[in-house]
Amino acid sequence: MITTKSPREIEYMREAGRIVALAHEAIKPYMKPGVTTAQINQICEETILAHGAAPSFKGLYGFPAAVCTSINSTLVHGIPSNTQLKNGDVISVDIGACYHGYHGDSAWTYTVGEVDEKTLDLLKVTEEALYVGLSYAKAGNHLSDISHAIGEYVFQHGYSIPRDYTGHGIGTQVHEDPDVPNFGPAGRGVILKEGMTIAVEPMVHAGKPQTRVLADGWGVVTKDGSMTAHYEHTIVIRKDGYEILTTLNKEELLKNG
Ligand code: MG
Ligand code: MG
Repeated sequence: MITTKSPREIEYMREAGRIVALAHEAIKPYMKPGVTTAQINQICEETILAHGAAPSFKGLYGFPAAVCTSINSTLVHGIPSNTQLKNGDVISVDIGACYHGYHGDSAWTYTVGEVDEKTLDLLKVTEEALYVGLSYAKAGNHLSDISHAIGEYVFQHGYSIPRDYTGHGIGTQVHEDPDVPNFGPAGRGVILKEGMTIAVEPMVHAGKPQTRVLADGWGVVTKDGSMTAHYEHTIVIRKDGYEILTTLNKEELLKNG
C-alpha cells in the first residue's frame, strides 16, 4: 500500500531527515586514512542519539550496526568493523534515523585522500543521476519517470546498475511501498501524489551489473570487483516538485520541477 503523509507526519520526517544530514556532516572530517568503519559507525550513532532519534538500521532485518559502511567494490550493507580506510578508497555511508516513529534515509559516497580520476567520475555521475532523477519528482508524473531518467543518465556514461536493489517508499517503516527502481521505461505504473515520501537512491557499478553477497550475509559486492557509488535522499513529493528531507542545505530544500 502506498501512503501519503500528513503535514504533521512530514514534520517528523523533516526532523528525522535533518538528523540524518547532521550525522553525515559529523563524519565528513573523519574520511581519512587510518579511521575505521567502526569509528564512523560510532560517530553516526552518537549524533543520532544526541538528537533524540534512533538509528533506523540497527536490528533492521537483524543488521548488527547503526549504519552501513561500504568500501570500494562493496555496493551496500557493509558491516562496520576494524577495517581502516586507506588513501584512494571511496566509502558509501548509508544512514537512517527514526524520530517519533518516522524515518529518514540517506547515503553518500565519500573519498579518502587521493582518489583516481576514473573513480571520481563514477561518483560524479552517480550523484548527478540522483538529481537528474529528482527533477522528475513532481505530483502527476509517473514514479517510473524518475527511474527512467536515472537509468538513461547512468547508461549514457557507460556505467551499469545492479538489478536487485532499488529505492523505496519510507515513513513509519524504513522500507515501504513502492519500490523506486533505478532504470526502466518512463510513463508506467504509480502516479506520484503530493505528500508521498520516497527514498531515491541510484546505485552504480563501474563494471558489470552482477552482484554477490559476502560470507557475512550482508555486504553486497560487485562480482567483477569493480568500484561502486551510492547517493540517496529522502524526499516528499510536492504539487510542483519535491522537498529534500535529508539535507541541511536550504537551497536544496525546495525544488520546483
Ligand atoms: Mg539508505
Ligand atoms: Mg534507502
